[in-house]
Amino acid sequence: MPHGQVKAAFSRGTAPGPAPGARILIVGGGYVGMYTALRLQRNLKAELARGEAEIVVVTPDPYMTYQPFLPEAAAGLISPRHVVVPLRRVLGGCRVLIGEAESIDHAKRTAVLSTLATEEEGTGSLELSYQELVLAPGSVSRTLPVPGLADHGIGFKTVEEAIGLRNHVIEQMDIASSTRDPAIRDAALAFVFVGGGYAGVEALAELQDMAHYATRYYHNIEPTDMKWLLVEATDRILPEVGEDMGRYTVRELRRRNIDVRLETRLDSCEDRIAQLSDGSRFPTRTLVWTAGVKPHPVLAASDLPLNGRGRLKCTTHLSIDGAPHAWAAGDAAAVPDTTAKEEGAVCAPNAQHAVRQAKLLADNLAASLHGRPLAAYAHKHAGSVASLGLHKGVAHVYGRKLKGYPAWFMHRAYHLSRVPTFNRKARVLAEWTLSGLFKREVVSLGSLEHPRAEFALAAGGGRPGPGSRPAREGGAGGGDKDGGTREGGGTAEGSP
Ligand SMILES: Cc1cc2nc3c(=O)[nH]c(=O)nc-3n(C[C@H](O)[C@H](O)[C@H](O)COP(=O)(O)OP(=O)(O)OC[C@H]3O[C@@H](n4cnc5c(N)ncnc54)[C@H](O)[C@@H]3O)c2cc1C
Repeated sequence: MPHGQVKAAFSRGTAPGPAPGARILIVGGGYVGMYTALRLQRNLKAELARGEAEIVVVTPDPYMTYQPFLPEAAAGLISPRHVVVPLRRVLGGCRVLIGEAESIDHAKRTAVLSTLATEEEGTGSLELSYQELVLAPGSVSRTLPVPGLADHGIGFKTVEEAIGLRNHVIEQMDIASSTRDPAIRDAALAFVFVGGGYAGVEALAELQDMAHYATRYYHNIEPTDMKWLLVEATDRILPEVGEDMGRYTVRELRRRNIDVRLETRLDSCEDRIAQLSDGSRFPTRTLVWTAGVKPHPVLAASDLPLNGRGRLKCTTHLSIDGAPHAWAAGDAAAVPDTTAKEEGAVCAPNAQHAVRQAKLLADNLAASLHGRPLAAYAHKHAGSVASLGLHKGVAHVYGRKLKGYPAWFMHRAYHLSRVPTFNRKARVLAEWTLSGLFKREVVSLGSLEHPRAEFALAAGGGRPGPGSRPAREGGAGGGDKDGGTREGGGTAEGSP
C-alpha cells in the first residue's frame, strides 16, 4: 500500500487535540498488551519510523508478568525478577506510560488516565486521545461477600502476592516455632486455599512442597504439624487438565496429607477462623483466595458493549462488536470460540488464548489500517500442564495424559519455551540448573517490604511511617495492626 494511503488510514478518527502521528492506545501491559505491542511495532515499523504512527502502552507496572511461573516463584524456584519482562526494554518502538485507564469514551476516542505523576502533582487525571484502541486490562480476582475475606484474604495473581505469600508462609513457621501458645502455633501452621483452578492448586502444591522441605531446618516442626487445606465449591479440581487428571490430582494431594474438601464453600473467615459450609472451623492466619476471576472493572467504565459476564463483546476478528477502531483480546474479551461444539461459546480466559489472540489482533489491526482483509481467530484448546511441586505434576495435552515426573518435566519444558524473550529463558534455565545442584533457599525476606523500619526505630521516630514495618504481621495480606507483637515476636528464648 502506498505511503499516502497508509497515512490517510492512520488519520481517521475524531480524536480531539493534536496527536503526533496517529495514536494506537494499548490499555494493559500483560500478555495481550505486550504481545500486541511487540507485533505492532514490527508490523508498523516503517510508519513508526516516519512518525506517522505512535503506540502508547498504558499499564500500572513497568513489566509484564508471566503468571504461570508465579507458583514456582512463590516456592523460591525462580526469582521474582525472572518471572517478569521489563516492558521498556522489549517495547523500544512504543511509549510506555505507567498508569491506569480510569474510563474510556470511545465515541470521542479518549481515555482518562491516572499516572504516578498525576497523583504526585495533584493535577487530576489526564485525557489522552487516540485513533485505535486495544483494550486488554485482563481480569481481577472474583470475590464473594464472605465475612472477613476482604480483611484477611490474599489473592494469587501478581508477583507481589506470590512473593508476599512465600515470605508469609515461612514467617508463620518461624512464629509457630517460637511461640509457647498452642493456639497461635496451630493457627500459624494452618494454610487455607479457596478455589481449585490451576492458580489455587499450583500455588498450594508448590508452597506445601516448599514448607515440607523447610521443616528439616526447624527443630520443633514436623511436616505432619502443618495443616494444608484446599476448599473447592464444585465436585472437581483442575478442570483444565480434564476429569481423570483432576481426580488423580485430588488423590495425589491427599496422599501428601493435604485436606481437599470438594463441594464445600468458605462461609466466613471473620476473626481469622475459616468456617466451611460442612460445619468445620479452622483457626488460620493464611487464607488464599483463588476462586476464579472476573473482567477488570474499567470495562464497565467505558461505552463499549459487554456480555452478561462483563467481558467485551468481540468478533472473531478481535474487534469489539459494533465499535469501529476498538479491539480486545485475552481475559477481558469474550471472543467467539468457533472450535467449540456449543452454540455461543466464548474462549476461556487463559494464556493459551491470550498470546494467540494478541498476535492475530496486531496483524488484523495493521491489516485494517492498510486496507487488507482481516483473519478470523480459531484455536482449539490444546490441553494444560500443571506443576504440583518439585518433580511432581499433571498434564493433559493433545489427548495425552501424563502424571508425576514426566508431567512436571513437560510443564517446565512447555513454559520455558513460552516465557517471553531469550534473556528470560536463559535466566530461568540457569536458576533451575543451579537449584538442582544446591539446596533450596527457605528464608523469609518479608522485611524487604518495610525497608524503613530499622532506621525509624534507630532514629527513635515513634510510630514507623509509610514504607516501614509494623511490629509483626499476622495475615497473609499483611497489615494485622493489632495482632502482631502479641502473637509473633519475642518468644524465641522460651521456644518449646
Ligand atoms: C497463578 C496463575 C497461573 C496461571 N497459569 C496459567 C497456565 O498455566 N496456563 C494458562 O493458559 N493460563 C494461566 N493463567 C492465566 C493467564 O495468566 C491469563 O489468562 C493471562 O494472563 C491473560 O492475559 P491478559 O493480557 O488478558 O491479562 P493480564 O496478563 O493479566 O494483563 C492485564 C494487564 O493489564 C493491566 N491493567 C489492569 N488494569 C489496568 C488499567 N486500568 N489500565 C491499564 N492497565 C491495566 C494489568 O496490570 C496487567 O498488566 C494463570 C494465571 C494465574 C493468576
